[in-house]
Amino acid sequence: MAQWQCSNCGYTFNTDDLPEKCLSCKETCSFNDVTCYIPDCGGTGNIDPRLVTERKGNIPKKE
Ligand SMILES: [Zn+2]
Repeated sequence: MAQWQCSNCGYTFNTDDLPEKCLSCKETCSFNDVTCYIPDCGGTGNIDPRLVTERKGNIPKKE
């Protein structure tokens, strides 16, 4: 099962069948595949934290 993140609101969820609209913000938006494909983050049942983007303008830039 793949992990996805809404490019609009940043909501993450897992599904094999992408919805037309985000489950969280109810907008028609694109979804980024944030599935973990390496053992470092636990395999495909997990989200790869490196791929997850924070909501724009919400989080201060990290070092
Ligand atoms: Zn959304």
